[in-house]
Amino acid sequence: MKKKQFKAESKKLLNLMINSIYTNKDIFLRELISNSSDAIDKLYFNSLTNKKLKVDKDKLEIDIKIDKDGRKLIISDNGCGMSKEELENNLGTIAESGSMLFKSENKNENIDIIGQFGVGFYSVFMVASNVDVISKKYDSDEANIWSSSGEDGYTITEGKKDTIGTDIIITLKEDDDEYEYSKYLNEYEIEELIKKYSNYIHYPIKLEKNEKLEVMNSITPIWKKDKSSIKDEEYNEFYKSAFNDYEDPLEVINYSAEGTSNFKALLFIPKHAPFNLYSKDYKKGLQLYSSGVLIMDKCENLVSDEFSFVKGLVDSEDVSLNISRELLQQDKQVSIIAKNIEKKITKELSNMLENDRDKYNEFYKEFGTQMKISLYNSFGANKDTLEDLLMFYSSKEDKLVTLKEYLDNMSESQDKIYYAVGESIDKIKLLPQVDEVLEKGYEVLYLTDYADEFVIQVLRDYKEKEFVNVSNADLSVLTDEEKKEIEKINEDNKDLLNKLSELLKDNVSKVKFTNSLKNHPVCLTTEGNISTGMEKILNSMPTNEKFTSTKVLSININHPIADKLKDLYKNDLKAFEDYSKILYAQSRLIEGLSIDNANEISDLICNLLSK
Ligand code: ADP
Repeated sequence: MKKKQFKAESKKLLNLMINSIYTNKDIFLRELISNSSDAIDKLYFNSLTNKKLKVDKDKLEIDIKIDKDGRKLIISDNGCGMSKEELENNLGTIAESGSMLFKSENKNENIDIIGQFGVGFYSVFMVASNVDVISKKYDSDEANIWSSSGEDGYTITEGKKDTIGTDIIITLKEDDDEYEYSKYLNEYEIEELIKKYSNYIHYPIKLEKNEKLEVMNSITPIWKKDKSSIKDEEYNEFYKSAFNDYEDPLEVINYSAEGTSNFKALLFIPKHAPFNLYSKDYKKGLQLYSSGVLIMDKCENLVSDEFSFVKGLVDSEDVSLNISRELLQQDKQVSIIAKNIEKKITKELSNMLENDRDKYNEFYKEFGTQMKISLYNSFGANKDTLEDLLMFYSSKEDKLVTLKEYLDNMSESQDKIYYAVGESIDKIKLLPQVDEVLEKGYEVLYLTDYADEFVIQVLRDYKEKEFVNVSNADLSVLTDEEKKEIEKINEDNKDLLNKLSELLKDNVSKVKFTNSLKNHPVCLTTEGNISTGMEKILNSMPTNEKFTSTKVLSININHPIADKLKDLYKNDLKAFEDYSKILYAQSRLIEGLSIDNANEISDLICNLLSK
């Protein structure tokens, strides 16, 4: 049976293509400049093997002229040009890519050609009411004009052109006019677009200004230069202008990868976090270039969440130029690059941590929280990447230490990592529970950042050493003997403690005596997963759910208040009840928790003071 071809209505197809592949009209210029750059590449490449073809490398260029009165934008190149057949085949067939054909015919890995998809040229119809392509092929004397207003086909007629190459004459649509004329007739706008999208095309792009051609692009991208030749100032200037920062970056990472994926990456860690880093408005992402041409300004998937603050760009031949944003985001190549970049950043940060602690501290102050939040948000999925980059304040060192350093500092008898949570280092130092652990000679990590405790919860352990909150009621740094002693005290005072538990049953799960609080009369500890620190944070979030930790009130058996309680329990149950309320309120205040019955507590205390 004879196979029939699908009939496609080119008008509809063209419309669909123009409107779905590109979301931004500006990029037509980028597409045409890339085509010109490819055409020059082809000519140059041919000249290497064709001795008759004389090409002056220094004269290869792309010129752009604006004819305001004629509403025309003219892009000219002195590249390979097209014959009549080529005009027909390349511009008459949608998705026919001459560049692709050229590449497969010339099996040379080194040819670096941008267009491989065969649709870029048509993006011009987003802005053009008519396009004339006048082209003269390098090995021919005749020139031809391909002319089209987009939807209703094209004509090819004989034309005149002195030099080889291609002129693309775009008559701009009237409906795009901003102010009194089209945006694309404005020198300044064109200059900006060249700088934005085609700055690193490796032939000069000249714009006619006051009848003189001026070079607009910087030609050799900084990331393609020899690494050893680039000075710090050059990186800094590039960073500031490309990423709108007023300060030099804290760190520059210039990286090229070869192998399963080939790319260059130039990455920057800013000195300061942008003000909106932790808000929903913040959009992470790296610029994505395909052989020197910008194809996406913020490619989100190139950078993982924990490093969302990293700015920079990736240039790879492996990603195609004419691919939509949506597809790019799922591109396999992009995710391979992203994995690679994540590893590289991790490595660079570890180096900084090892070799330049002051700089790392500076970095951590700005971006530590981001790494912690992402660790928590991923439920610990990126634990391996991050756990060695985290730091917490150490009771022993009086500064931030890594978990590895904590472990190195541990005595043989210690098998847990102790931490305490509070609003500030000073407040944590005053917690009775902290004293108890410090007394044993153990180092305690003081967690003051709101994300800290959540991070500890997802980490669960570090190198098989469990994290333990010093406020956890099950915490035991006591020796067996000390444990026995306190068990006996609690047993002897069972009735009194049961009475206290009953009086405070709405607030605590248990009341107990302890002998490890030194001079402090009371403290509050918790059982289970939610600590008082987390209770505070969870309840400050805008949800209706209320979280409460399971609390245990500990009373110091060696403090005079214990004797007073014993006495009141026997002789004055009303006062016993008042005391229980005050002691519980005190333990909450020490933890930084608010009290619901402040008035009542205040009255009770004043009554006592007046006695
Ligand atoms: P792509 O660039 O992705 O191949 P385009 O639709 O942009 O697809 O262009 C189609 C083809 O037309 C190109 O592959 C190239 O062969 C040819 N072409 C476009 N512009 C030029 C030009 N300025 N000079 C020579 N050939 C060109």
